[in-house]
Amino acid sequence: MKRPHQPRNDPVSDVLQAPPRAGLLFAMNRFTTDCRLCPRLATFLDGVRAAQPDYFAKPVPSFGEAGTPLLIVGLAPGMHGANRTGRPFTGDYAGELLYSTLHKFGLSTAAEPLDANKQANPALKLKGCRITNAVRCLPPQNKPEPAEIRQCNAYLVQELAALPRGASILALGTIAHEAVLRAGGLKVKDFKFGHNARHVLPGGLKLYDSYHCSRYNTQTKRLTEAMLHQVFESILEQHTLRP
Ligand code: SF4
Repeated sequence: MKRPHQPRNDPVSDVLQAPPRAGLLFAMNRFTTDCRLCPRLATFLDGVRAAQPDYFAKPVPSFGEAGTPLLIVGLAPGMHGANRTGRPFTGDYAGELLYSTLHKFGLSTAAEPLDANKQANPALKLKGCRITNAVRCLPPQNKPEPAEIRQCNAYLVQELAALPRGASILALGTIAHEAVLRAGGLKVKDFKFGHNARHVLPGGLKLYDSYHCSRYNTQTKRLTEAMLHQVFESILEQHTLRP
């Protein structure tokens, strides 16, 4: 008989089993934009900052209030998007699609991620959701190494710990999906990635999957605007995220 899934017995899996615990959070480094725990990425960002002094070019913080009922997890900052503006998904095509979708579903105060000066739109506030990345530093060729994904996962653990019971997580792409599972101490093989799939995780958190809203995925029609909208419809069917 197939045994029910049992998460690993370690402190990280407790994040999904129990309400947020201050002790767990204090045991970990808090995120700062000075983080240099990944030497390759830190050195790469030093070079980007030197070449593009007007770019943010640091680890990009999450956007939106902590503890909201929906956490959206992307891959990593893009060179001319979050790496330039300092706000996740802001400044490139992926953000245009994501923020217009959030606005359509009442989850942001504006559809346009940029202001007239092409900087992060100060009038755009998230409503009932927060956006972060599996890896917070710009990786060369948009490809973080496994060790870097593991290193940055400690910050994602803190994001999950701040979620209210029954909250939803939207993973944009397989790397984000696997990073969420890792942050919860769960096995990838037990929760297979699938576009518009919904997984109920131990402790009651719900994990939704979508193909990443990158320009490449939309140009190749792997993800259409309608497909992304369907994912948000699925999430909003489960509970009201709007304040
Ligand atoms: S990827 Fe994450 S852990 Fe690595 S240096 Fe950047 S912020 Fe720090």
